[in-house]
Amino acid sequence: MTDSISVLATIKELRQTVGDWRAAGEKITLVPTMGALHDGHLSLVKLASETGDRTVVSIFVNPAQFAPHEDFDSYPRENEKDLEQLAELDVDLVFMPPRDEVYRQDFSTRVTVEDLSEGLCGASRPHFFGGVATVVAKLLNQCRPDVAIFGEKDYQQLLVIRRMARDLDLDVEIIGGPIIREADGLAMSSRNAYLSAEEREKAPLLHQAISEIAEALSNNVTTGDLLNKGRKNLTQSGFDVDYLEVRNADTLAPIEGRVKGQVRIFAAAILGKTRLIDNIAVPTPRK
Ligand code: AMP
Repeated sequence: MTDSISVLATIKELRQTVGDWRAAGEKITLVPTMGALHDGHLSLVKLASETGDRTVVSIFVNPAQFAPHEDFDSYPRENEKDLEQLAELDVDLVFMPPRDEVYRQDFSTRVTVEDLSEGLCGASRPHFFGGVATVVAKLLNQCRPDVAIFGEKDYQQLLVIRRMARDLDLDVEIIGGPIIREADGLAMSSRNAYLSAEEREKAPLLHQAISEIAEALSNNVTTGDLLNKGRKNLTQSGFDVDYLEVRNADTLAPIEGRVKGQVRIFAAAILGKTRLIDNIAVPTPRK
């Protein structure tokens, strides 16, 4: 199956192929991933094929977004399986560069998006958004797509990338795709593979917690007690809560009291050795 899909490893070949499509007036959509693909990734690929004429998927486990103590070495790598899954979809090209194609030995540039990168995941993973913004800026420059698609699962990341593209005048539209969940509500993630059977049973409690808070906020309950109770319940269930916060959906400004406008709840918690993140929109409060 995998020989039916075109896989390129160099920037030169990528530019050549995509350049030909662009010259022919075709609309190109890029879906960047780190592989170990699941239905969340595949939903973005499907969205891409509805959005443009050509779909490019990149698979690159980006060392720049992992701190030395994090899981870069153990991050799941499943290239064969990924290519089999992509071959079933309407994908024109998979870009799988080796590490030294992306980062030369003396690579020394870093893209920093201030403000939106601070707080939430940026507080406990200070290296993370710089690493993401840098690799995405590079991928967008290498491929020069008309559209790039990212998941709302990593909502802060989506906003950081959209701001980076705007600030650097990159000629690309950044689109967000909805979060795809397991039947029990757990947001799909390549890192879910780290969960033990017992942890996997508990993991949907994170989604349950933010769903209940969203429901209460839309019924005009105020934030303070709800969040404290949510943190306490998760901790009692065995989660090490990194954050549980209510923020404006566009600016990520913290919200306290009664919610107004477009608001989301953001959570990150560690279960065993797995860091889970999730977020959910608060329905517009009833009057
Ligand atoms: P990753 O491979 O984890 O870097 O993710 C690649 C892209 O897939 C990112 O834009 C993620 O936000 C997106 N993604 C990951 N999990 C999901 C999910 N459960 N639903 C929707 N998009 C997702």
